[in-house]
Amino acid sequence: MRDENCIFCKIANGEIPSATVYEDDGFRVILDMGPASKGHALILPKSHAADLGAADRETAEKLFPLAARIGSAMKAGLGASGFNVVQNNGTSAGQTVFHLHVHVIPRYEGGPSMVAWTPGSAEPEELAQTAAKISAAL
Ligand code: 5GP
Ligand code: ZN
Repeated sequence: MRDENCIFCKIANGEIPSATVYEDDGFRVILDMGPASKGHALILPKSHAADLGAADRETAEKLFPLAARIGSAMKAGLGASGFNVVQNNGTSAGQTVFHLHVHVIPRYEGGPSMVAWTPGSAEPEELAQTAAKISAAL
């Protein structure tokens, strides 16, 4: 399924040219136009889903193996020493393009810290209550 107004549908299906790293029947992997580091890639499913929660299972379960493959190729091909796999769902999580995509960001020795947060604190009781709320909604 495609969304005529979606830029990532157009890129994934080849209507808009992109620096393509990989393509198969279900996915296109392109370079991000605003890279966090050299080689920053986006895995785009060819079928439209707004985010991970909306994706079909077949698509979702292929994303991590593909991210691992792309990350390994970044290490072998670009000399990266590691990589981050980042996937944003919803505006509050930083999603700006509402077509499911996975960022694969190569990291280099001595490079800046990019994907980080300040650890908070929580009592064991609060952790248990929060875990129970999520569990109950599964
Ligand atoms: P999000 O914040 O939604 O997780 O990530 C969207 C990403 O898509 C951003 O990193 C942005 O630079 C990238 N992006 C947005 N539009 C385009 C485009 O037209 N071409 C490419 N190559 N990247 C794009
Ligand atoms: Zn789309």
